[in-house]
Amino acid sequence: MKSNDIRQSFLDFFQERGHKPHPSAPLVPHGDPTLLFTNAGMVQFKNAFLGREEPPAPRTVTVQKCLRVSGKHNDLESVGPSPRHHTFFEMLGNFSFGDYFKDEAIRFAWELVTDVWGLPVEHLYATVFHEDDEAYDLWKKLSTLPEERILRCGAKDNFWAMGDVGPCGPCSEVHIDLHPDRPQVDWEEGTESGRYLELWNLVFMQYDRDEAGELRPLPNPSIDTGAGLERLAAVLQGVGSNYDADLFTPILDAAGTVVGVPYGSSPDEDTSLRVIADHLRSVTFLLADGVIPGNEGRGYVLRRILRRAVRHGMRLGLEEPFFHRLVPVLGEVMGDAYPELEATRDASVATIKTEEEKFLSTLAAGSRQVQEEIEEARARGADVLPGARAFWLYETHGLPVETIEEIAEEERMGFDREGFEEALRRQQERSRQAAGEGKKRLAALAGALLEDGVVETEFVGYDRLAEAGAKVLRLAKEERGKAVSAAALGTGERGLVALDRTVFYAESGGQVADAGTLTWEGVGRARVTDVQKEAGVWLHLVEVEEGTLRQGQQVDLEVADRHRLPTQRNHTATHLLHAALREELGEGVRQAGSLVAPDRLRFDFTFNRPVEAGELRRIENRVNDWVLRAVPTRIREMGYQEAVAAGAMALFGEKYGDRVRTVEVPGFSMELCGGCHVGNTGEIGPFVVVSERGIASGVRRIEALTGHGAIDWMRQRSDQLADVESALGVAADRVVGEIAELRTDLKARDKELADLRMKMVAGAAVGGDSGGPIEVDGVKVLIREVPPAPAGELRNMADTLRSKLGSGVVVIGTREDAKVSLVAAVTDDLTKRVQAGRLVKELAGMVGGGGGGRPDFAQAGGKEPDKLPAALDAVAELVRKQLG
Ligand code: ATP
Ligand code: MG
Repeated sequence: MKSNDIRQSFLDFFQERGHKPHPSAPLVPHGDPTLLFTNAGMVQFKNAFLGREEPPAPRTVTVQKCLRVSGKHNDLESVGPSPRHHTFFEMLGNFSFGDYFKDEAIRFAWELVTDVWGLPVEHLYATVFHEDDEAYDLWKKLSTLPEERILRCGAKDNFWAMGDVGPCGPCSEVHIDLHPDRPQVDWEEGTESGRYLELWNLVFMQYDRDEAGELRPLPNPSIDTGAGLERLAAVLQGVGSNYDADLFTPILDAAGTVVGVPYGSSPDEDTSLRVIADHLRSVTFLLADGVIPGNEGRGYVLRRILRRAVRHGMRLGLEEPFFHRLVPVLGEVMGDAYPELEATRDASVATIKTEEEKFLSTLAAGSRQVQEEIEEARARGADVLPGARAFWLYETHGLPVETIEEIAEEERMGFDREGFEEALRRQQERSRQAAGEGKKRLAALAGALLEDGVVETEFVGYDRLAEAGAKVLRLAKEERGKAVSAAALGTGERGLVALDRTVFYAESGGQVADAGTLTWEGVGRARVTDVQKEAGVWLHLVEVEEGTLRQGQQVDLEVADRHRLPTQRNHTATHLLHAALREELGEGVRQAGSLVAPDRLRFDFTFNRPVEAGELRRIENRVNDWVLRAVPTRIREMGYQEAVAAGAMALFGEKYGDRVRTVEVPGFSMELCGGCHVGNTGEIGPFVVVSERGIASGVRRIEALTGHGAIDWMRQRSDQLADVESALGVAADRVVGEIAELRTDLKARDKELADLRMKMVAGAAVGGDSGGPIEVDGVKVLIREVPPAPAGELRNMADTLRSKLGSGVVVIGTREDAKVSLVAAVTDDLTKRVQAGRLVKELAGMVGGGGGGRPDFAQAGGKEPDKLPAALDAVAELVRKQLG
């Protein structure tokens, strides 16, 4: 059975049994700050299990893209050695939202596995949570498994949770014995070694775990199951490892060819090829879902996986970028099931290639840095590279810690792993506090507010900014550090408010949340500082300034127009910019993120080189054209398919429902978008691009302004130009010429000045009245304090004086502010007897500094200007010592 057929047979089986197929959610979960990546089929239904959101249907079936590389479910380290673990895999799952429970879940699984897929009953096992007698009895009743192959297991494997908080429950798993011909072994040992392979996990979703770890019953006991497609493929295709089944063999073949080491050459090399094949899937799917390689959060995880693949390539002897060349083969294997792969292929290839190149050069430069650190440590007599130094290399140069460790090992230097981990932990702590805290607190408050079920909000704010008499449905606040639902918020208190309807836009699709006020009973007033939405509920974060805000109260809402109107301008302008970019730079340009705020707009897009000035100008003109045409925008609701067929641009990695909203500037741009827009493009006013730059490999960022923001910016610039004009005393068109002239003049003066100083020093020094060279044991020694001058000029002076002397020693010193500079020069005939380097080193010691150089020429600096005269007085004695 081909993998494509297995996927389909699963969907068919459950569809025939009343399940509605539902598309995979993106790898980046929406609106869930507790989770970095989708790690199971149930993630997109979390709120449905909690009773906060309508499920798509009481019975649902999915094939979900999953990633297990962080947090509670992290299989990264297993990938390579393990024949059954991947970073990215496809999870087949059937779901019941309060519909059927354990009985049918077990019945369905058994029927599919044995009747439809025909797996041999005598090699199958079922496990249940040890306290779950009901599940145990059901397996006995519904399957033909003998009692000794129904096992009771502990919470480690048979109690499932998505993360530390959220829905969870006891579970029951289906396993298969991969080597029935071998003697029986203990269950623990058999699962560890991979002999007993877990195929399918049926989770009996019963609880919600809160921050404190407490379990609360869910509104409706539900079913969530997950079976790994790759494992099923291995078993149904009769091969021992996932990597020998059809989802992987073409990739491994291609990898073997690119690397020049065919799969099967040696166990070690095979491990590296498996890592490469596995990581190709996770990296490419992450890119397709809009994640960009970066230095934090999801982007950092992506970068780490990519770099891990590159390092395994190096282990196989490759020193050049290769990974990107494998992207097309993944499209061949999985493109039919996942059209996003094809749509994003070229951009992914380009991004990966740039990342690879960057990493390889980082490694080359970084390795030198590590060598230097090691030498320094050695010079101090240490035999261990300190963890803090290693962390510095890791952080500033992006060197993988494994690389640092490897180099240390090669250099026979110890590595302070603990110190490194400690430094890393402290840094993570810092960034966690900086970034996640606000969102996490809001999530906790949201949890408390939504505890008693959903209270959907109607959004009425697309075409008005005020609404009278909305009703306060729920409140939540923090009490002694814990989020709790509340009946009222008093003066000065902060908390969350849910209303029956609202005009406040909740942050989404790049558009920031509205700000404004709630007022009630003539006296009460609260400021709205943030608005988020979850499960159809608008959550207003407020600060009560006067009065008490109570549950059940009627309030008047008002969005600040100085906030919303400019935001709308920026949002419609973002769409125009997007369309203009694609027109000018090609359809390969893809949105990679955006920010629409009242004071600016930011648009990130995939593109592989800087946008040239001329192109940028044309793009700006194009947007302004559409503004000046004053086109009415057209906003409609329609079915998703209809919208896409009409040419609406959808974003990959974005989750859309069946009904979508389209925003159109007829004739130019049409996007799926839930945001706020102007009624007519003419309202946007002037549009100016203020910057364009790269923010990650293959990703550019444009920042632009509209309306008053653009006017202010242009005015400010023209004011600045006026200031420049008056300072220079010329008109604008002559400013540049004037500056060039001034620069040339200045350069000439500098040169003149340097010549003068030189003459002064040289004239006075050689033969003049103010003391020429002195004689020390028959050697001419010229010692001078000279006026402050740039370092290059000082060297010139010393050099010139030396040639004038013919044979002898020159030492010059100068001081300025808190700085001393010294230069020593010795003519060639004397370098055997007097060394400039040694001389300068001793002198530098006297002025609080250090330095050195060659025997004929050396310089040094110091920090104690007062000591310069004494140091210069000591020169004669030092020279005498060297001569003697
Ligand atoms: P295991 O104990 O084998 O690591 P798990 O208990 O972590 O698996 P679940 O969380 O129960 O697995 O996930 C449900 C199913 O998803 C598993 O039965 C398995 O078929 C599949 N699966 C889990 N993790 C992976 C992975 N890293 N790669 C491929 N398939 C996986
Ligand atoms: Mg399991």
